[in-house]
Amino acid sequence: MEKMYEALGISREIYEYGQDVLAGLQERFAAIDETAEYNQAKVLRAMQENRVSGACFATSTGYGYNDLGRETLEAVYASCFHTQAALVRPQISCGTHALALALSAVLRPGDELLSPVGAPYDTLEEVIGIRPSPGSLAEFGVTYRQADLKPDGSFDWDAIRAAIGPRTKLVTIQRSKGYATRHSLSVDEIGQLISFCKSVKPDILCMVDNCYGEFVERIEPSDVGADMTVGSLIKNPGGGLAAAGGYICGTQECVEACARRLTAPGLGKEVGANLGQLPAMYQGFFLAPTVTAGALKGAIFAANIYERLGFACVPDATEPRHDIIQAVTLGSPERMEAFCLGIQAAAPVDSHVTPVPWPMPGYDSDVIMAAGAFVQGSSIELSADGPIRPPYAVYFQGGLTWYHAKAGILMSLQKLYERGLMDLKRDR
Ligand SMILES: *Cc1c(COP(=O)(O)O)cnc(C)c1O
Repeated sequence: MEKMYEALGISREIYEYGQDVLAGLQERFAAIDETAEYNQAKVLRAMQENRVSGACFATSTGYGYNDLGRETLEAVYASCFHTQAALVRPQISCGTHALALALSAVLRPGDELLSPVGAPYDTLEEVIGIRPSPGSLAEFGVTYRQADLKPDGSFDWDAIRAAIGPRTKLVTIQRSKGYATRHSLSVDEIGQLISFCKSVKPDILCMVDNCYGEFVERIEPSDVGADMTVGSLIKNPGGGLAAAGGYICGTQECVEACARRLTAPGLGKEVGANLGQLPAMYQGFFLAPTVTAGALKGAIFAANIYERLGFACVPDATEPRHDIIQAVTLGSPERMEAFCLGIQAAAPVDSHVTPVPWPMPGYDSDVIMAAGAFVQGSSIELSADGPIRPPYAVYFQGGLTWYHAKAGILMSLQKLYERGLMDLKRDR
């Protein structure tokens, strides 16, 4: 085994350090496997209930009228998320697109949008108009309010109550921390927040940005009252196989509004050719619980390694997990670059390239991204990224298999070590 890792470029010393950390994680890994087993049964049942058949994998082109495969896949998602309806399309380009779609589908001029969990994910700033941008919701007369989390990370109930007014139409709740160092929310916490908002204003709609959260727990935000649960297919639910796409699971009314916004009023869900993408979307969803479990193990392994080396990790080495993201505060741009170089060097694709910080559309500081993925930009595949700004944290996620996640983390460690950017001290 050591020789095989050495062939990959991981020294015996680094490998042994990893094995030592791993020895303490077996119980947590067993619990993750159990959640995956539960969720595998959930997905399997959803596919059986909706009579997925060979005919569902046929390609449709043009308008895509009467697309059995597309309609069945949407029914499978709805069953699995326990919602009335779902919109699952390759025409939804990414997570930001899915979220922008959901927001613009239900918000009208004069409405107010509220985030009760602090600032939303970077790319939503331009969607909402927090950073002025042509075509933003602000340009259409939708205003935005925010209630920040308390310093200890808990909900500020008084501030949330005060922020809900007669114009508040929609509450947006981000499950994952994104590029912030707050904790990610559990589905249970999301449920409490939704109940609270609806108790203050019963007709308020609640949307959850579920990116990176799918299948981490046994329930989803749609099980605790979310009207729309939204995510990307190049993250967890695509299982690494979906080539593109996004989903919105929710009430009949909300999903219909999203469909009319995605295509056109009057057309809604009836059009949208599948372009041959369905087999990968089905199969990816089927594999998603296991793939998510592998990514979770990688995140926990990384936290335990880096925390032992003295770097702050969110979540920390022992906390429960609510998404697959691992933030590691490395404290300098040089360490961020070395970490990302390691992740890149461990990839099956483009392992020979060097990631460099670069301005990215939607982000307001340079971003470094390491991803040697089969699907461009896929972050359910092993990847690391982060904005080059204090506290210089990298956000690590994914791995189609646990073993690949492990190799990537060991390689990141190798690169930091080779460049003299950390001490391999054994402080047990
Ligand atoms: C990934 C992500 C998004 C959407 O990002 P895309 O790159 O557009 O898919 C939105 N919110 C959160 C929390 C995310 O992690």
